[in-house]
Amino acid sequence: MKIKLSEGRYMTVTKLQVQRTLFGLLSVVMALVVARQAMPGGRATIAKLDNELQRVYFDERSVLVYVGDALEAQPNCQPPDAKVSYVWELEDDGVLQVEDGQIVAAKNGRTTVRVTAGQHSATLRVTAQYRQLPPDSTLPPLYYEELPIANYNHTLSADDVPADLIQIPAAYVAANYYTLYVSQETFNAYLKLLAAMQAELGSSRMHIISAYRSYARQAELYNAAVRSYMAAGNTSERARVLALNTTQTPGNSEHQLGNSIDVSNDNTTDHNYLQTPEGAWLAENAHKYGFVIRYPADKEDITRIAYEPWHIRYVGIFHATYMYVNHVCLEEYVDLQAQAKEAAEAYSGNKE
Ligand SMILES: [Zn+2]
Repeated sequence: MKIKLSEGRYMTVTKLQVQRTLFGLLSVVMALVVARQAMPGGRATIAKLDNELQRVYFDERSVLVYVGDALEAQPNCQPPDAKVSYVWELEDDGVLQVEDGQIVAAKNGRTTVRVTAGQHSATLRVTAQYRQLPPDSTLPPLYYEELPIANYNHTLSADDVPADLIQIPAAYVAANYYTLYVSQETFNAYLKLLAAMQAELGSSRMHIISAYRSYARQAELYNAAVRSYMAAGNTSERARVLALNTTQTPGNSEHQLGNSIDVSNDNTTDHNYLQTPEGAWLAENAHKYGFVIRYPADKEDITRIAYEPWHIRYVGIFHATYMYVNHVCLEEYVDLQAQAKEAAEAYSGNKE
């Protein structure tokens, strides 16, 4: 069941429409002024403004709302002066509720809202959570949604494919390397990181050698490793264990999430990457752009992956900075977040 909100019940929509109408008028005036200036001495022609609705969208794909607060995100439309009235739909999960004509976060959880205008619609993911931890808490502040994780303990399925994969432009990929894909959000952050590295080091030899790795590709790599260990005289059982030194069983590689990138200066992975200017820069600065060194040298017993100075994982600036400053790896951080969530729920006395 969905709860439909008519535009009349949702006050903010009405306010927005008034602003749109003003903007529309302003556009017509500007078009006249431009047309007049462009044709000195000639007759002004008025460009016909086609304001038929073409697209509805949100600026962000997901937002955080604290329990008790109203959802402030508003949809946009293309063209901006289109005549539009939105119908909002909420999931029937109780995370968001309508109070006094506003959409309010009612309890912890993740949900989706949809707005529809004519033939067009847009969805927004919403994370609702308690605002506060106990004052004496040493736990990380709860912020945004849970971080996806893939490791020996969290197995992805063959169907887990990131929704926003893009092909990485060849200029960023190591020479003679495969066609690589990565999530759009991760690539945008990588571009900022690379630009900062180039500016600070004067240049960068860093290129991408691996990014998104499908379930099928992981299976190929794992099976090839098992076969080569068997060809070297190992039993199949032993070969399967040995294969885990260099590959992982399908579904257990973080590369399947689409937000991990392996980098290199010379097309190879090297445990001495930290000794290169690029590797050293990454170790100290990646968090400023939302990345963490996913498999640190002194966390091998927790990640169960050998130190990889070349593997960066996008988690967003907030989480990456916390992890860097407090020197915790993703497994530890996810645990800390879970504890923080529990503490916040208990503190607010608003247990579900
Ligand atoms: Zn990697």
